[in-house]
Amino acid sequence: MSQSDPKRWRRDFPQLSVRVHGQPLVYLDNAATTLKPRPVIDALNRFYKTGNANVHRGSHALSAQATLAFEQARERLARWLGIDDSRCLIWTRGTTEAINLVAYSWGQHNLRAGDRILLMQSSHHANIVPWQRLAEITGALIEVIPLQADGDIDLDAYRQLLSRQPALVALSHVSNALGTIYPVATLCQEARDAGATVLVDGAQAVPHFDVDISSLACDFYAFSGHKLFGPTGIGALWGRRELLDAMPPWQAGGEMIERVSFDGTTYAGLPFKFEAGTPHIAGAIGLAAAIEYLSTQDRVAMETHEQSLLTHALESCAQVPGFKAIASGHQRVSLVSFELAGHHQQDVAHWLDRHGIAVRAGHHCAMPLMQALGLPGTLRASFACYNSLDEAERLARVLDALVQSQKNTVPVAELEQSDY
Ligand code: PMP
Repeated sequence: MSQSDPKRWRRDFPQLSVRVHGQPLVYLDNAATTLKPRPVIDALNRFYKTGNANVHRGSHALSAQATLAFEQARERLARWLGIDDSRCLIWTRGTTEAINLVAYSWGQHNLRAGDRILLMQSSHHANIVPWQRLAEITGALIEVIPLQADGDIDLDAYRQLLSRQPALVALSHVSNALGTIYPVATLCQEARDAGATVLVDGAQAVPHFDVDISSLACDFYAFSGHKLFGPTGIGALWGRRELLDAMPPWQAGGEMIERVSFDGTTYAGLPFKFEAGTPHIAGAIGLAAAIEYLSTQDRVAMETHEQSLLTHALESCAQVPGFKAIASGHQRVSLVSFELAGHHQQDVAHWLDRHGIAVRAGHHCAMPLMQALGLPGTLRASFACYNSLDEAERLARVLDALVQSQKNTVPVAELEQSDY
């Protein structure tokens, strides 16, 4: 099997056999959420069919078993990310909740009026709005790291901003709107050398390549399970031990306490201090199954295949009149953000959907980036290992058919019946 043959992965993802509007599904919305492999679906089914019980406080066999599976999932994820101490890995609902946890707990207790927070022009709203709320509360100031025209970070501007000694630098590992991979190892080290606390949003990185958090000079790393072939509603925050130890809880209730009385409450240690209430037990177990699945795959072959998809999609789509790719930076994941001249993005997305191709249109929760680009939004085709080169070509063919249909005013019904 060639490096670019995704058959070995396609059979693991049952949703690929679905038809949409009578057409075979071409799922190119992986940056929004990935499809789930069979072992994840099986793990969720197994838990709810025979293993369902609450964790940590039960005094029966099923509860002990669920607790073990839940904590083993944490261990599994920690090992996968190069984390020694799994107590520093906090379960959250996803990246959004992880960043909010840091903004609320670390931010409110460490930032003062006039402190600077550095954000990226291309960040997802989840890595902007929590910091804006924090700035409103504390009087801290937001500063923005600009991008170059190709989507890469403007390093000179970054260094200049660092020289003003920001208290916090919140970075994106990979842009969800452009696909650009930022050099976070260097960016984190420089931010740390400047004395800043550093958070990295890894939501779009961990699905595409191995990340060793211990090799990054960051203080917090956040990501979501559902973009990583796992279930929705589960994700994690890794934090540096000294910081997490010093941070107060952000939500309060059961699970996060050591002792409660009306005279006062003492809190549990890590990680439970930050995990109030019943957690997403099945989600954690499902995410561990996703990691297990990925660990048994040739990840280098996956990355190579994804890069072929990117190249192939860009080359095929470049033949379509009016197609314009938005980013051209040198390091990108398999994601194509584009415009089709003379066509509104929503109309193009609708046309593609009618032909079974799922993409995303709009601002991709990155409105400040769209403002900088002077665009209302873009179309985004985002690939995963199970996409094929044929699917990348089909995207180009269906886009071309749209352009031709307008030029030649070919009846739409005729085109819909033709075989793309
Ligand atoms: N950051 C980035 C870069 C993302 O792509 C996303 C999801 N689109 C998020 C944060 C938010 O993730 P979630 O909705 O899973 O919390």
